[in-house]
Amino acid sequence: MEKSALYIVRVPREFKEQIIEEIQFTLGELPFKYLGVPLSSKKLSVQQWMPLSEKIATRINCELNILDIYCWNKVALFKLLWAITTKNDTLWIQWIHSFYVKNRSAENMSSPKQACWIIRNIFDARDWFSQNNPTNDLNSYCKKEKFSIKKLYIASRPQYQKCPWKRLVIASKAPPKHQFNIWLALHKRLATIERLQKWGISVSKECVLCHKNIEETREHLLFEYEYSRILWAKLLQWTGIKYQIGSWDEEIN
Ligand SMILES: [Zn+2]
Repeated sequence: MEKSALYIVRVPREFKEQIIEEIQFTLGELPFKYLGVPLSSKKLSVQQWMPLSEKIATRINCELNILDIYCWNKVALFKLLWAITTKNDTLWIQWIHSFYVKNRSAENMSSPKQACWIIRNIFDARDWFSQNNPTNDLNSYCKKEKFSIKKLYIASRPQYQKCPWKRLVIASKAPPKHQFNIWLALHKRLATIERLQKWGISVSKECVLCHKNIEETREHLLFEYEYSRILWAKLLQWTGIKYQIGSWDEEIN
């Protein structure tokens, strides 16, 4: 209730006051932001949609473990900066030290403006690093005295729970129609009787396939129903896999 606000649009003034009196919410004003996106009565611009699309993309990338190349690229630049700060003894780094760093600290000096594009990028990666990482201790990203790109990459990304069924969707060679169906099933969005009832549609509760007084759920339809079990057994036999199919939870999670 405390979080709720009332938005009244295109209502005559007296009527508006009546509503406010009746409903004890605070009166909100448009546009307001929801999930970082301004909600307004006008069409939103691409710019206004960006925060939401970025949030969704980050979440999808993290859950499905898709590599964020932009982030990886920054981390890779940072590895070069680490090499410069630790004065790794290569000719290239000695060259950077004698031309740009001189006797300063590579970590704290300002980016050399006269340097070429790649050198400036390496130094500019510090800004990105300070925004995305809780610790300044570069050595905590090292493994056996070598800088680990993977370690810093993981530390720089928000951590979401890993998706147990990732491979079912990403590595699937199934036709798109079936991929879509499995995606629906995984999100518990198949129009099974159980869900139809939740929507308030009056349907007979029993499963239409086995006519037993069993509720038709995703689990029942795909794994528990006798006929599905026979199908699974035949399929596994056909592909030469010796395996007894379990329940939805056992197979998916
Ligand atoms: Zn059934």
